Amino acid sequence: MNRSLLSLTASELESWFASRKQPKFRVRQLKKWLCTPGITEFDQMTNLPKALRDALSAEFSLRSMRVVTVLGTEADPAEKFLLELEDGNRIEAVILHNEQGQHTLCASTQVGCAMHCAFCASGLDGLVRNLTAGEILEQFLFAADLLLTRGHRLSHAVIMGMGEPTANLDALFQALALVTSDDGLGIGARKITISTVGIPQGIERMAELAHPYHLAISLHAPNDELRTQIMPSNRGIGLTSILRAADAYFEKTGRRVTYEYILIAGVNDSLENARELAGRLRGRNALVNLIPFNPVEGLPFKTPSANQVQRFAQTLESLGIQIALRHRKGEKINAACGQLRRSKS
Ligand code: SAH
Repeated sequence: MNRSLLSLTASELESWFASRKQPKFRVRQLKKWLCTPGITEFDQMTNLPKALRDALSAEFSLRSMRVVTVLGTEADPAEKFLLELEDGNRIEAVILHNEQGQHTLCASTQVGCAMHCAFCASGLDGLVRNLTAGEILEQFLFAADLLLTRGHRLSHAVIMGMGEPTANLDALFQALALVTSDDGLGIGARKITISTVGIPQGIERMAELAHPYHLAISLHAPNDELRTQIMPSNRGIGLTSILRAADAYFEKTGRRVTYEYILIAGVNDSLENARELAGRLRGRNALVNLIPFNPVEGLPFKTPSANQVQRFAQTLESLGIQIALRHRKGEKINAACGQLRRSKS
């Protein structure tokens, strides 16, 4: 099988062209085509000479992933795709549609995940491997191609699919550089959210970017004892150093940090938990995104009642915390990360 062209770094691409005595502007022309939705064959790249197109297609492929299963339709709030990679591994990508007509990709960064959060389907079988930059980028192109056939545009992205983004930041940043570039998909860094389990070094790297992405941190517990129980990655890191890194990110970028908090019945959804969380976050320009737990087959956890979710939300609000209550858009389609992949294996 041909090598995926999307996985080449900018310098690999340049040296390929240089070794074939191609002028530099051809690289730029090619890059533009690479991120043009609907361009899936080299022969569609009409401003490249035929011989160059042939040489490229003899060596490279433009798409490497195959759709295995689709759940949901464009009329639903979310459509979920099980995608098979060249080596047979499978990942999930979701396209979310909102009432304002915006379309958001939820992208994966790894096959499986090494974080082993107790409530999450993606980590149940551990990490298989990191995705390449090309495989991350291709999820964006897949979504943009599909949306184009409907006359729509991909406008936003959340890196909240399978995997821990900070464990694969080089590949992620390489892919997002093309996604955000004017020559690429042109989706602004402000419209892209990276969600992390809370790895301070990763958060620091995000803060250093010239055009920072939006940061979301999966908090899920107001104290280290509970957090370490449900998120083993918390051991040896702890909430204090995570919040310190988040504060430094805010100082540096001026961008409000989002804290995700899954509500799990009887585990982290008491009003005492809400008050402790409010105490932790007080004084910060932060948004808490409350997400009722999405049941995962084989896991003992349950979703709290709507009433309990409301009471938790109101407690936070009464203590001055800004909240958003995320509706479980993906429920109908098994959207909790990793569930579709597991159901097919
Ligand atoms: N590893 C990253 C991003 C992937 S998970 C992170 O931890 O943030 C994206 C979000 O979905 C995280 O907040 C994660 O905790 C949450 N999630 C995982 N399993 C879930 C479930 N069963 N129900 C609801 N949210 C879940």
